[in-house]
Amino acid sequence: MERLQKVIAHAGIASRRKAEELIKEGKVRVNDKVVKELGVKVNPNDKIEVEGIPVEREKPVYFLLYKPRGVISSVSDDKGRKVATDFFPYIEERIYPVGRLDYDTSGLLLMTNDGEFANVLMHPASEVEKVYVAKLKGIPSREAIKSLERGIKLEDGKTAPARIKLLSMERTKNTSIFEISIYEGRNRQVRRMFEAIGHPVMKLKRERYGFLNLHGLSAGEARELTPHEVKQLR
Ligand code: URA
Repeated sequence: MERLQKVIAHAGIASRRKAEELIKEGKVRVNDKVVKELGVKVNPNDKIEVEGIPVEREKPVYFLLYKPRGVISSVSDDKGRKVATDFFPYIEERIYPVGRLDYDTSGLLLMTNDGEFANVLMHPASEVEKVYVAKLKGIPSREAIKSLERGIKLEDGKTAPARIKLLSMERTKNTSIFEISIYEGRNRQVRRMFEAIGHPVMKLKRERYGFLNLHGLSAGEARELTPHEVKQLR
């Protein structure tokens, strides 16, 4: 038995909070009867409808994808470009990415059909550490790196403190490689941070998401999360 709002959220129809609103507004039926109270529990055989549309109940699934560059973090693309779900041809559940990585960014991307799980992780308060490796044009000064670590003003506000480590540099090619850890997840954040100190990112890869890493996977490969990993992330 599961709470009705949780089942609606898991089906990817709405966040849990929005599901509660739908219930209170009388838009949810269980076995053809409107249910307006919160906290009602349902079993897998109950027929649930939201605004007259049957809720398809899928078992929740969780995957970790090593997204290659040149892939959209989405389930479809009107320009016909490769999308993250193309890497799961045999998965029948309607999975989608938890957050996004830019088209040109490679690395760790979680995929699930569990709307509530995705919402919790994407919420700014979840503060999951994300670790990226960035190849930069030029070699930033120590001072510039310090300013990024402290937080730098971007057009959508100052960034939270970050940890940054030099991994290597090539003076002849005038490039450098840094590891950067951030807890936020703003759009193109890492690229914009380095851009702000005058060192554009040439290549970007997400190496880590919380305690998860890409060990054992090549670009384009995925694996299922273990139940223990899913529990730890919640
Ligand atoms: N920061 C970026 O700039 N791009 C990503 O894809 C992820 C983080």
